[in-house]
Amino acid sequence: MIYSEVASKYAALEAISGRNEMTVILAELLKATPTSELASLVYMTQGKLRPDYEGVELGLAEKMALRAISSASGLSGDKVRAAYIKHGDLGTTAEDLLRNRSQGTLFSEGLTLGRVYETLLRVARLGGAGSVEAKLRELASLLNDATPLEAKYIMRTVTGELRLGVADYTVLDAAATAFLGGKEARAEVERAYNVHPDLGFVVESAAARGAKGVKAIALQVGVPIRPMLAERLSSAAEVVKKMGDKAVTAEYKLDGERLQIHRDGDDVKLFSRRLEVITSHYPDAADLVRERVSAKRAILEAEVVAINEDTGEYLPFQELMHRRRKHGVEKAMADYPVALNFFDILLSGRSDLTGLPYVDRRKRLEQAVEQTDRTRLVPAKTTSDPAEIEGFMEEAIENGCEGLVVKDPSSTYRAGAREFVWIKLKREYRSELTDTIDLVVIGGFHGRGRRAGTYGTYLLAAYDGEKSAFTSVAKVGTGFSDEALARFPVLLKPFESHVKPPGVESGMVPDVWFRPHAVIEVIAAELTLSPIHTAAMGRIRPGAGISLRFPKFTGKVRDDKRAEDATTVEEIVAMYNRQTKKIG
Ligand code: ATP
Repeated sequence: MIYSEVASKYAALEAISGRNEMTVILAELLKATPTSELASLVYMTQGKLRPDYEGVELGLAEKMALRAISSASGLSGDKVRAAYIKHGDLGTTAEDLLRNRSQGTLFSEGLTLGRVYETLLRVARLGGAGSVEAKLRELASLLNDATPLEAKYIMRTVTGELRLGVADYTVLDAAATAFLGGKEARAEVERAYNVHPDLGFVVESAAARGAKGVKAIALQVGVPIRPMLAERLSSAAEVVKKMGDKAVTAEYKLDGERLQIHRDGDDVKLFSRRLEVITSHYPDAADLVRERVSAKRAILEAEVVAINEDTGEYLPFQELMHRRRKHGVEKAMADYPVALNFFDILLSGRSDLTGLPYVDRRKRLEQAVEQTDRTRLVPAKTTSDPAEIEGFMEEAIENGCEGLVVKDPSSTYRAGAREFVWIKLKREYRSELTDTIDLVVIGGFHGRGRRAGTYGTYLLAAYDGEKSAFTSVAKVGTGFSDEALARFPVLLKPFESHVKPPGVESGMVPDVWFRPHAVIEVIAAELTLSPIHTAAMGRIRPGAGISLRFPKFTGKVRDDKRAEDATTVEEIVAMYNRQTKKIG
């Protein structure tokens, strides 16, 4: 496959925003690609090189990207930087500057998809001493052989800024159109993706073996499944009603980190909520699985929580975050001991259990886990009485939990779905106005006085899934401890950008932009309409977006969420509507 063909399809995709049109273009591209290259094409279209759970990170720093353009164009660093400030995007900068480059032999060699992919993969994997220069060499050589249009997309890909706006679901639509046909096939492709979230693999299976190939995709130890998520309501009575006025199972909602545990004999892998491998943060938890789980081959879900070893009490999430470190894990394990609180089992031996009702999965879980101080089943109570649920909720909160997750006992495990068969009841939801929300840091404003030399406030965005954009929703300055104030600039440094990052929509211009990565939890007094912020612009009233009144950082950095997992504009609109209903 010739890369120029891919680049011209990218240009076509970029020019449109309708999902149907996108599907047509993408389906053409998939059909034109040899099966052996389909997986790499699909990853690249998503601005990635491998499925997320393999942790291959793109995201070359701005500085390095500018050096590569300078080297390939033969222009000075200053000239390249000036062009970058003008264009506001590394891709367009490369395209513009390489168009005028002076070399005699333009595009000495046509680029293939394979070469671009392999080179970018090498760049992403290079690390350690001398890797900076090696990365630059690889990249400059690619740019040397690239047409201006190709260079544009190569730069955007390598910096993690491709954002063609092609959602995972659009790729699935395109694969169904290109290789299968029919609405039924589409549902099957989506099912396959939810249990094996590797788009490249799913598309390649569809191309190589058709509907049969897709149907054969099943839960596999070692490949994380997309987690089932919970909806939210504000009272036990509403929950019971929503589930059909029958007995429901209320469980503690522990304030820890969700772990998806994959075990094959002594081999134990722990995946986070966003499906990254985090086994190295919790070697002790992996040992607990080896020692206390009787199923030798299994996929389980648990909430790992920091505990007070002397009393067995649960400790808040912040304590657990001390475990998210690369060095000194041994000491952190001793200082911040944890307990595993199991709440689901998805596979045992050779049997896929996701099709069983929850009540049966819970029984299987009881058989699979030995209950000790460190390994427990999440406390649960089955009842149809809202008052009893309220009482259980108070007990949970007293025990250091956030509230409850209420589950429909007859529900199967629905990978990737957020439905009203799991419903969260949190204490905050009961305040008159609003829930906690998770927002993406997109900018910083310099501080004054005690905050001189650091940031005083941060600009936050919600994720708009329809537009694949991050839209501004609030400026937050309260709730930061001195430690957080010192830590944030360090945390955000790698994402600094001299221009408004692509995919960010904001009328407010901060002193420093950040590429959308860091997610923090905030609480606010209420949601209000705003002429300045762009979240849900025009959705409630023309010319107005939604913003937060009196936002406050709760102290929680949501390391376990990707920017795209932040609270969505849809959710904010729903919260706004719920709030106005209550006030009305
Ligand atoms: P939140 O911000 O409320 O944690 P979320 O978007 O991360 O929400 P949700 O699916 O909305 O995730 O809420 C479920 C989360 O609650 C799970 O991801 C898990 O980490 C946690 N949790 C705690 N206890 C339970 C439990 N008993 N059953 C399921 N999930 C639980």
